Amino acid sequence: MTRIDDLPVRDELRGKSPYGAPQLDVPVRLNTNENPYPLPEPLVERITERVREAARDLNRYPDRDAVQLRTELAKYLTKTGGHPLGTENVWAANGSNEVIQQLLQTFGGPGRTAIGFEPSYSMHALIARGTGTGWISGPRNEDFTIDLAAAERAIAEHKPDVVFITTPNNPTGNAVPPETVLALFEAAQAAKPSMVIVDEAYIEFSHGHSLLPLLAGRPNLVVSRTMSKAFGAAGLRLGYLAADPAVVDAVQLVRLPYHLSAITQATALAALEHTDTLLGYVEQLKAERDRLVAELRAIGYEVTESDANFVQFGRFTDAHTAWQKILDRGVLVRDNGVPGWLRVSAGTPQENDAFLDAVREVKKEL
Ligand code: PMP
Repeated sequence: MTRIDDLPVRDELRGKSPYGAPQLDVPVRLNTNENPYPLPEPLVERITERVREAARDLNRYPDRDAVQLRTELAKYLTKTGGHPLGTENVWAANGSNEVIQQLLQTFGGPGRTAIGFEPSYSMHALIARGTGTGWISGPRNEDFTIDLAAAERAIAEHKPDVVFITTPNNPTGNAVPPETVLALFEAAQAAKPSMVIVDEAYIEFSHGHSLLPLLAGRPNLVVSRTMSKAFGAAGLRLGYLAADPAVVDAVQLVRLPYHLSAITQATALAALEHTDTLLGYVEQLKAERDRLVAELRAIGYEVTESDANFVQFGRFTDAHTAWQKILDRGVLVRDNGVPGWLRVSAGTPQENDAFLDAVREVKKEL
């Protein structure tokens, strides 16, 4: 049988495996930070209508610049982000992973480097590898906050072309204070003109505010967002960014023409018509997240402060054994490879109860 490594693949891909959490068929799946609530029926109806309309024109390519969708996303950001943005400030792609890929294709690439502060969202490093961008793993403190002095030193030493700041951070859950983001932005600009990408995939779940207002006067700052979490539409594959219009122009140098299908654009537009209902679920999930934090602590686990729709808990001498024991009780959580810690996504109250029952039992065994 021919294996990947028998093919003339790029050296940096040899011996590697594809990214992805296990998709196991178990009763309670709390491992990929999805929204547990299916889309409400009126929205399903609206999607059907919009897609039916779009289907009539599928002989044609879609709007290559997704103008209507970007306009509606800009309205959503203006309404919720405390900072006015227009169509020219927003770009959309198939999930924020593709947004990040386009940003690295534009601002990273061979001979260039990107830095992230780990543990963080591991796709940043993988997309760097896929785009030929060198990866630098920056430090964090023991409590998973960013060690600002060490981060500033790393930026001064490596002079990266791209700096990733994930807030709230995945998998740890904690938000990065705006002062830290600003300090890192200044350090990055002092080292060399570079792009700072703030990944706000989970911002709607935060106790704090979006960093969108920081965009004013900072063309080297980008905020990336997604409809996969708060909008409960992970299956849609719609991510977007907000930035200076020049950034939006720049990523168009690398985007594939017609990258966002007419079906995707129609579905996302329907979802944006139902923003208020969808954000109602966010409030429920925030309450459940806070309950998970409180109950996990009451059981005796350590929990990292969470501003996201998931919670990092531990500590375990062997996180993988604990993961398996929780799975044996029908609950799938995530082992991100952070030694001693696991991550659980906030589900419905019933799913969270099942999870809490499982970890209560596991606590007695470990
Ligand atoms: N950023 C972060 C921090 C994430 O956790 C995720 C999803 N797990 C993404 C980006 C990508 O999400 P999507 O491609 O679904 O928008």
